[in-house]
Amino acid sequence: MPININHVCQCGRKYYLYMPFKMYAKEAGYSPKGIAVAEKIDKEDHTPERMEIQKKIAELYGAEFKDLSVNEIVQCECGKVLDMLAVFAKARDAK
Ligand SMILES: [Zn+2]
Repeated sequence: MPININHVCQCGRKYYLYMPFKMYAKEAGYSPKGIAVAEKIDKEDHTPERMEIQKKIAELYGAEFKDLSVNEIVQCECGKVLDMLAVFAKARDAK
């Protein structure tokens, strides 16, 4: 399933990230078959309704919602570019 990450930038801005399962699967070293399955799961999960819910969760958290399936690179208003590899590692460690 897709992964949500709470991220706080060094400037203090909060982000609530939606990471597609496919993106994670690639990083985690899944087989091509596994990545294809992840992509299928993402398609089922990535509906406008679900994205609305994600945005609401972000609001409750006081964070900005970022959909990484739209844009893998997130740049904060302070200019800091999110280090996605570090974020991936964090997500992995949280398992
Ligand atoms: Zn920042």
